[in-house]
Amino acid sequence: MATINDNYLKLKAGYLFPEIGRRVNAFAEANPEANIIRLGIGDVTEPLPEACRAAMVRAVEDMGDRASFKGYGPEQGYNWLREKIASRDFQARGCEVDASEIFISDGSKCDTGNILDIFGKNNKIAVTDPVYPVYVDTNVMAGNTGTANDKGEFEGLVYLPISAENDFTAAIPDEKVDLIYLCFPNNPTGATATKEYLKSWVDYAKANGSIIFFDAAYEAFITDESLPHSIYEIEGARDCAIEFRSFSKNAGFTGTRCALTVVPKTLTAKAADGSDVELWKLWNRRQSTKFNGVSYIVQRGAEAVYSEEGQAQIRDLIAFYMENARIIREKLTAAGMQVYGGINAPYIWLKTPSGLSSWDFFDKLLQTCHVVGTPGSGFGAAGEGYFRISAFNSRENVEEVMKRIAQLQA
Ligand SMILES: *Cc1c(COP(=O)(O)O)cnc(C)c1O
Repeated sequence: MATINDNYLKLKAGYLFPEIGRRVNAFAEANPEANIIRLGIGDVTEPLPEACRAAMVRAVEDMGDRASFKGYGPEQGYNWLREKIASRDFQARGCEVDASEIFISDGSKCDTGNILDIFGKNNKIAVTDPVYPVYVDTNVMAGNTGTANDKGEFEGLVYLPISAENDFTAAIPDEKVDLIYLCFPNNPTGATATKEYLKSWVDYAKANGSIIFFDAAYEAFITDESLPHSIYEIEGARDCAIEFRSFSKNAGFTGTRCALTVVPKTLTAKAADGSDVELWKLWNRRQSTKFNGVSYIVQRGAEAVYSEEGQAQIRDLIAFYMENARIIREKLTAAGMQVYGGINAPYIWLKTPSGLSSWDFFDKLLQTCHVVGTPGSGFGAAGEGYFRISAFNSRENVEEVMKRIAQLQA
């Protein structure tokens, strides 16, 4: 008889977004005339930049000509794209990252989950609370946790609470952990990390032989020039960090799919016999075996992000979402709410008014304003009492939502 991976049974049944869907559908059915606006799920809304589309059209034509046709590409990605990323995203900011250390992929969601393939089963793993749910669920699937308690906390994980009290930046743990997930600018809180703060993590990781998984999916939204975009801006990070980046949020590739992971060749971890093994070799082996690369067409689209027109177009795209964020922050503040984030990230994280629970505020906003956001408790127990509003939407929708919320307060 075939058996299953029982770890999947420990998962909290993909609780958050299905539950949002259930409540929104029930409300829509009972109120068919309501114009519901969703500022919930973190997906982009604006069209793909013209430079990327034009490059992909040209790439499709390449595929139609025997001389320029492409079959299987390198599993790690085409060198012309890896070189551009290395020089423009890293070396230009003083980071010592070589093109050969960049692995092109179909997504950071995929990579942050798949990376566990190359790590052992006895690592102590730390996540912030609240957190991007993918980090937790992939560890559950991999068998790195026990079961969840009533609050949804999994036995075996180390939860580092983040809240307004610590500026949504976790304290360095007293205990020793082996793998640490950090995401800056942060989803869901919109918080950022200074160089000094990241340095304290790099020092901790080096002292303890830990590896930091640094998710920089939102680096393009940083407006404060003093903030680091990459963990490799911190001295010593090449010895303790893997960085994940994506074209999803900066260039609107959520449906097109292209991302990258940096695994420095200087990075090692221990084998069972105590020897040091280069993680680059393992990740290269893993990708070569289980992944067949991103399509040539899409990689040409991603390359166009680095062209002059591409740069101007993504700047406009980000500025558009960040103006949404500014409007949301300003109007919610004017409505008397306590808001965080939204300055260097497309997410606004608010303290629910009158001490309402995250889900009670969700229901209130849905019923009185016909607006959908994301309950903070869905990102972890410590997200209770908070609520996420996304700036990924049309200006019209954002303005309409703010009008409705202002009326709610009046
Ligand atoms: C959107 C997002 C990503 C990007 O994932 P892709 O698979 O590249 O689309 C990565 N990390 C976080 C925290 C995100 O919110």
